[in-house]
Amino acid sequence: MSEEKSLNFIEEIIEADLASNKCTSISTRFPPEPNGYLHIGHSKSICLNFGLATKYGGTTNLRFDDTNPVTEETEYVESIKADIKWLGFNWTNELYASDYFDNLYAFALELIEKGLAYVDDSTSEEIAILKGTPTEPGKPSEFRSRSIEENLTLFTEMKNGVYKDGEKVLRAKIDMTHTNMLMRDPIIYRIKHAHHHRTANKWCIYPMYDFAHGQSDSIEKITHSICTLEFIPHRELYEWFIEKLNIFPSQQYEFARLNMTYTVMSKRKLLQLVNEGFVHGWDDPRMPTISGLRRKGYTPLSIRNFCEKIGVARRENMIDLSLLEFCLREDLNVTAKRVMSVLDPIKLVITNYDAEKTEELTAENGPDETMGTRSIPFSNTLWIEREDFMEVPAKKWFRLAPGSVVRLKNAYIVKCESFEKDVNGEISTIYCTYYPESKSGNDTSGISVKGTIHWLSAAQAATAEIRLYDRLFKVENPSAEEGDFKSFINPDSLTIISKAYIEPSLAEAHLEERFQFIRKGYFCLDKDSTSEKLVFNRTVTLKDAWGKIAE
Ligand code: ATP
Ligand code: MG
Repeated sequence: MSEEKSLNFIEEIIEADLASNKCTSISTRFPPEPNGYLHIGHSKSICLNFGLATKYGGTTNLRFDDTNPVTEETEYVESIKADIKWLGFNWTNELYASDYFDNLYAFALELIEKGLAYVDDSTSEEIAILKGTPTEPGKPSEFRSRSIEENLTLFTEMKNGVYKDGEKVLRAKIDMTHTNMLMRDPIIYRIKHAHHHRTANKWCIYPMYDFAHGQSDSIEKITHSICTLEFIPHRELYEWFIEKLNIFPSQQYEFARLNMTYTVMSKRKLLQLVNEGFVHGWDDPRMPTISGLRRKGYTPLSIRNFCEKIGVARRENMIDLSLLEFCLREDLNVTAKRVMSVLDPIKLVITNYDAEKTEELTAENGPDETMGTRSIPFSNTLWIEREDFMEVPAKKWFRLAPGSVVRLKNAYIVKCESFEKDVNGEISTIYCTYYPESKSGNDTSGISVKGTIHWLSAAQAATAEIRLYDRLFKVENPSAEEGDFKSFINPDSLTIISKAYIEPSLAEAHLEERFQFIRKGYFCLDKDSTSEKLVFNRTVTLKDAWGKIAE
C-alpha cells in the first residue's frame, strides 16, 4: 500500500540540512540507560531514530547511557539488544557512554584549564540553596573563585579516590543568575565509590548525564540527536559544552514522548510493579514492556505500524491503548491461523450420528487461500461453548436453544432436541440430531440457518490453560491520579481458565505462532508451556470491547 505521507518536523529539518549541505549524511543514536527493560514508549524512539537513518541512508548507533554505576545491570543490556533486534532494527555500532570516561575526564580538565569549571566543597543542600529559584537569581559559592591550579589538583585528587562520596563535586562555571536554572553552574562530575558494570572499580568519579550525553553524541558525530520534550531546557547546556570544548556540533531535537492510557511507562514505576509482585516479571504479558508485549503475542510489525500511525508530535498527548490493539488486530487478522477452542465447555451429543465413527473434515486456515487447510476430527460427542446455548432464548437469538437449528462450523447443521442439567441445575449435556446432507462445502439439505457456532470433538480435543488479560490499570492515567499509582491496579487484569479445550493440532504450536481462536480472540503459546501442559495467552480480543475506535 503506497500512501503519500507528509514529512514530520524532524524529516523536514533533515531534508533542509541535507539540501543546504549542513550535513552530507545523517547519523542518529538510540541511547537507553540500562536500568530496566524497554517499553512501548522506547519503541517510539527506536522506530524514529532507526527509521530516519533507513530513510535517509544514514547510520544509527545503539549507545548505552551507562554513566550511573548504581542502577545499571548487564541483564538489562542484553534484554535491550534482544528487544531492538526483535522489533526489526540493526544498529551500526554498539557503544557505551562508559567507553568515553577517559574522553569525558579530559574534557573536564580542559574546562578547568579554560577557567570554565571548578571544584565545589559545598554540600548538596548548600548548593541547592545557593542555586536560587526560577524567580530569584542564584549566588556564587565561596569555592567558585578557586584558581585553575587548585581546581586541577583537587579534581585529580577526586579522581584518585582521596575524597568520600559527596565531599566534592566538579561544576561548570557558567552563570549563577541565568534564567535557565540548568545553566547555574551545573554539577558535571560527582564522587561515587561504586562498582560499574563495565569499568569495574577503575573510576570513583562519574560524569553527570548532561556532561556525558552531548559529548558522547559529539564523539560519535551524531548529526541529529533526538530526545523527548523534557530535555528542551537541557539544550542550552548541551550547546554550551560543545561550543566551549569546540567539538563536533551535534544538535539536539525534541519530540513528545509517547504516553498511553491505562499504562505507566517509567522504568522506575515498572520496576516497582516487578519488585513488589504486582506482575510476574518484566515480561509479564500485562506489562507495557517490549518483552511483555512480545510474550502476549504482539508482532513487531504491529508495533512499528503503531509508531508510524501516531506520528511525531511536538506536544505532549495521550494515545489510546485501543489504537495499539487496533494495529495488532490489523496484522493478526491477515496472518493468524484460524483454529477452534472451547473455553467454557458443555457437551453436545448427536444422537443420530454413529457413536463409533470419526470423520475428518476440512477447514480453512484463514481468510487467504494461501494459508491452506487443515483437517479436524468430527464425532457424535462434541464440546461447545456454554454461552452458545440458551434454555429460554432471547429475541433474535440465532444460536442453540431447544428446537433451534445452527450450523457447526465446517461441519453439519444440527437441531437441538433436548438437554440435561446436573445436580447444581447447570446445563450439562445437549442432545441434537444432525442433517447428513448439510455438510459444509457440499450442503444439499436446503435448510437455512442464521447461526454458526464452533465446536471440538471431545475424544480428540487437547486441553490447555488459557490466560486472559485485561488492562493493568483501572483508570486512564494512573500517574496523574492522587495517591500511589499502584492503588489503581485492576484486580481482574488476569483471569486463568485452568482447563479449556483446543484443537489437537495445537499441541504442535510454536512460541512465535499466532492463532485466531475463532470467535474468541487472538492467542499464542506461552513460554510456561511444558510437554504435559499447554498454556495459551490471549493476545487481544477480536473486537475492541471499549468502543473508542471503530473498526
Ligand atoms: P523512563 O522514564 O521510562 O525510565 P527514560 O527516558 O529514562 O525513560 P532512557 O533509557 O533514558 O529512558 O531512554 C532512551 C531513549 O528513549 C531516550 O532517548 C528517551 O527520550 C526515549 N524514550 C523514553 N521513554 C519514551 C517515551 N515514552 N516515548 C518516546 N521516547 C521515549
Ligand atoms: Mg533516562
